[in-house]
Amino acid sequence: MEIKSVRGVRDLLPHQVEKLRYIEKVCREVVEKYGFVEIILPTIEEFYLYQHSIGQTSDIVVKQMFEIVNRGEDSNKKLVLRPEGTAGVVRAFVEHNFKNKFPLKRFFYFGQMFRYERPQKGRFREFYQFGIEIFNEPQIASDLVLINIINKILTALKVKYDLEINSIGCKKCREEFEKILVKKLSSLKLCDVCKDRLNKNPLRIFDCKIDAEKLKEKFSDELNIQNYLCNTCRNSFERILDAFNKQGIRYKINPMLVRGLDYYNGFVFEYKTELLDAAQNTLCAGGRYDGLLYRFLKEDVYACGAAFGIDRIMEVINIDKKENLKVGIAVVDDKYLLDGFNIGEELVNCFKDIVIVGPFSGKSLKSQLRLFNNENCKYVLLIGDEIKENKVVVKDFINKIQQTVEMKKLKEIIL
Ligand SMILES: [Zn+2]
Ligand SMILES: [Zn+2]
Repeated sequence: MEIKSVRGVRDLLPHQVEKLRYIEKVCREVVEKYGFVEIILPTIEEFYLYQHSIGQTSDIVVKQMFEIVNRGEDSNKKLVLRPEGTAGVVRAFVEHNFKNKFPLKRFFYFGQMFRYERPQKGRFREFYQFGIEIFNEPQIASDLVLINIINKILTALKVKYDLEINSIGCKKCREEFEKILVKKLSSLKLCDVCKDRLNKNPLRIFDCKIDAEKLKEKFSDELNIQNYLCNTCRNSFERILDAFNKQGIRYKINPMLVRGLDYYNGFVFEYKTELLDAAQNTLCAGGRYDGLLYRFLKEDVYACGAAFGIDRIMEVINIDKKENLKVGIAVVDDKYLLDGFNIGEELVNCFKDIVIVGPFSGKSLKSQLRLFNNENCKYVLLIGDEIKENKVVVKDFINKIQQTVEMKKLKEIIL
């Protein structure tokens, strides 16, 4: 029987893992400098959490959840694999009383998320996100620090990006805007999901991939949320623009950018790349979600955050392979195996960045040498009769020289 990985998920092979870990490392190093601390969240959460945070009409909640069979004592609870990270962080915030526990409330997480979507290049059903969340810090300093951090990370990763921003206003400004949206859009032949959104959450229609073209054609000043912002929202958006201009941060205002989730308000943003297809070219996205905590805590807590799509970043970056000193240990006969092991141990203990290959038993010298060559070893140590006089033969694979060396001088030679 043929056995394969499940559709939409994949193995990450060593060269991909190397990339993933590199991206994670860069993200981590940058955010830690800004006081972010890590939390590890469970992959399983209650469906209710997402329904109540991401929103009933979001694609994720409607059709992208991986439900899991719950056999436990609370089998009446519907459990799912997490489709994103923010809701889980918010749940942890409430459950562990972050409000009183951490003076600075800046957190980051890294891990797998799961969404049932049509798989394509750069989009998988199991994917990786690195996320940052800031709580209890009002606009606009927290918005600015987010953008500065993300720019720093993408620049360190040598990714070319375009930053698109928007303000989707507060409840107050959205109320009027949504009324107009419903009026203007009901004449359009929208998809079934959008018809439903029209009644429940019209702003989200801008997120629709099916109706995107129609909306673009129809788009006018009247449908531009920027024209409906209340004074507070307008003012803080303008302060952000002003700061960007003074900092030399390049951006484009995209009035149709609304983000796919219910919990956002005010400043939202997406980082895109030209290197991927339009349907999945977002490398990082986020914004403010000041209202979300209230839904669980019945208390207002300022919040904003962003998440990096690690799989997409992996598609667009190249990393320099780390070159370790690789040394092959060959035994001319199995009787020298223990000497080979001892020498290997000594090298591992002495050099921080060494990789030893071998020794192997039951392999001819020729096949050992072939393996070391294919593994790109810089040196090969031949352990044979010379070991009785505390000597080994060192083959320099790069300079093609060979010399017999006293053991105590070995470390200087291969340095
Ligand atoms: Zn407003
Ligand atoms: Zn639609």
